[in-house]
Amino acid sequence: MKTTVQSLQRRLISLGFPLQFGADGDPGVETIAAVGKALDELEELREVSSPSPKPAQSSSIVPSDWMPAAKMERIICHWTAGAHKASEFDRGHYHILIEDDGKLIRGIPSIKLNEAPAQKGYAAHTLGANSGSIGVSLCCMGGANEAPFDPGKYPMNREQWDALTSVVADLCRRYSIPVTDKTVLSHAEVQNNLGIQQRGKWDFTRLAFDPSVKGAKACGDKLRAEAKAKL
Ligand SMILES: [Zn+2]
Repeated sequence: MKTTVQSLQRRLISLGFPLQFGADGDPGVETIAAVGKALDELEELREVSSPSPKPAQSSSIVPSDWMPAAKMERIICHWTAGAHKASEFDRGHYHILIEDDGKLIRGIPSIKLNEAPAQKGYAAHTLGANSGSIGVSLCCMGGANEAPFDPGKYPMNREQWDALTSVVADLCRRYSIPVTDKTVLSHAEVQNNLGIQQRGKWDFTRLAFDPSVKGAKACGDKLRAEAKAKL
């Protein structure tokens, strides 16, 4: 939106810098003085804030119309155990998919359908834990093997992972989901962290692009730390 004198004046007034003539569209002495006062206050605020200010909020990558109003409790992250591109089958099971180049693909079910109690057509991504859960999945790991670890022909890559942490940050902001091990977790953590039995799911216990990270908790902790840093 273009800032006009009038919209600037309105903002100044709403921020507590009264203008005698209101938002009259005339950039007079009073308006200029109010802008000066606002800048002074901003300067003071900057000085009291930490010496290494956080970088500006990371840019959002999830289109806002993919995130309809709903009461959502958690985000469960998966891989598809398929190829590097999203298939129609995969699109039926998750809300958001991430391809190997970091491109986001919208799943068929709306997030709203997984609001508790889940509605017909919801995304069935996690056994017994779909209500209130957003399902995000990385398109990768088809034909992979956990032990001995073999990432197969479609390994998870860092670009996908980085897109995932941005997606998680966007979803946390949109749905006011805190980053805890019960609210932002991988499928492999569901059984331990939520107490809901899964059938040997290992997404994620290994990260193909970083073999030093091993085990569901280590992968989940990395996911949470990196998503949190983008909030
Ligand atoms: Zn899964």
